[in-house]
Amino acid sequence: MHHTMKDPTHLHNGTQGGKILSCIERSYWTGTQFRATRRNPVRVHVEQQQRLRQLLETTRVRSSYYREKYRHIDPGCTNLVEFPVMTKAEMMSHFDQVVTDPAVTRSGVEHFIEDIRNVKEAFLGKYTVSHTSGSQGQPTLIVQNQLGLDLLFAFQMTRGNYGHHGGLLGFIEAMQRIRQPARLAVIINQQGFFPSAWIWQHLPEYMRVYMQFLFVPASDPDLVKKINEFSPNVLSATPATMDLLSLKTDQFRLPKLRQVVTWSETLTSAARRRITEAFRVPLMDNYASGECMFLTNGCPSATGAHVNADWAILEVVDENYQPVVPGRLGNKVLLTNLANTVQPFIRYEIGDRLIMATEPCGCGNRMPRIEKIVGRVADFFWVRTSTGYRPLTAYPFQHAFDYRREVREWQAEQVERNTIVVRLEPIPGAVPDLVAAQKRLEERLALTGLRQDLEIRLETVTRLATDVYTSKFRRMISRVGIPQDLDQPLREVAEDFASEECALHDSARVPA
Ligand SMILES: [Zn+2]
Repeated sequence: MHHTMKDPTHLHNGTQGGKILSCIERSYWTGTQFRATRRNPVRVHVEQQQRLRQLLETTRVRSSYYREKYRHIDPGCTNLVEFPVMTKAEMMSHFDQVVTDPAVTRSGVEHFIEDIRNVKEAFLGKYTVSHTSGSQGQPTLIVQNQLGLDLLFAFQMTRGNYGHHGGLLGFIEAMQRIRQPARLAVIINQQGFFPSAWIWQHLPEYMRVYMQFLFVPASDPDLVKKINEFSPNVLSATPATMDLLSLKTDQFRLPKLRQVVTWSETLTSAARRRITEAFRVPLMDNYASGECMFLTNGCPSATGAHVNADWAILEVVDENYQPVVPGRLGNKVLLTNLANTVQPFIRYEIGDRLIMATEPCGCGNRMPRIEKIVGRVADFFWVRTSTGYRPLTAYPFQHAFDYRREVREWQAEQVERNTIVVRLEPIPGAVPDLVAAQKRLEERLALTGLRQDLEIRLETVTRLATDVYTSKFRRMISRVGIPQDLDQPLREVAEDFASEECALHDSARVPA
């Protein structure tokens, strides 16, 4: 039976009377999302190309920027390599012409995310918006349609769900979840419009019957107690946070835990080992970006993650944008999100360096697997507090400065253990309001519980320099490094995450 997976948009317009019917329909649609991972890759490719053709058509009709950019390409052409690359800077400087809905504007989105209370609201009543953390240079504003969210949740329920059964069994499992919803505990590093944590707060209403959530800030002093009381099936956090939690497993009582999910930063092989040994459940490391949140689902048996190739295209390329074969390390990746028709990302350049796997995967998922990811290491400072050392990540700084219009770039330097100098580089001709910037930063630091331990100095510079050793720009620089008297287990975590590049290719099996 060939079931064409249609855009489920019509399911969102269900009338009150049709609610139960549409709930079943949606459950069915969600259930079918597992199937593609077992299907012949040739068939998945056909489906992918149909969606690509449709996206290119829509984009050319409704986006004046893309229409102009593609004017030299034959209208019927769907051969992606013929299409020019789109950069972040280009996307941001032509934002209003790139988007396909004229009601969406850059200033409108910026105004919307200024107010943190909007984090659970839909922009213009129908879109979710976020911005990337800017860890790879200029931050990007991202507007997503409902389909992108539906896919994210459906993939998490099926493809990213360890032990999930496909087909009818999967459908039955989904229906059973109505009586016994899955319990997902998400540890958040920072409130705000960062895609990875807040996205779960935008769970479509029809999915709420399947999942219950606990959101706990990583800085919460009762973190362990709250997680124990909630008793999650799935525990989710960034690799660095999960690694630190794995040192506390003697305090956790998690009889129902089935899997651990990490996201956002690079998971080092040492961290993977420590986390799986501590929690004794499979670890799914999702690789995604704000531009395509449903891009992959972590592989439960090998390292890395499987690309959801039916709805996204990932091209690994070298520095001249030439294709790099599986098994070889690329220089960057080009992303095409086949679901987002409001802000089309087509051959969109992301700085990550990847290696695609050459062999079929033992877990049974036939989607292409990213074997190794280089970069995206968490930057953090170790700060002394009355209860010992605590890590301070880049999040408070990012949230305070990434969306100040007058700030082109920022850099935080830990000059002494508890003293941080923050340098702001304004856009040409602008004068940053240091008082307002300091206030904003202190608000963000207060949320981490570290405000009273830190001395912060802000200054303006005309140009921030790149690192003399690596010639890369670094936002977080520590002059004091890892404390000498840091506990040994914490030290291991710290040293691991401090490494510039890390290998993920050893295919350590997770304990059964
Ligand atoms: Zn796999």
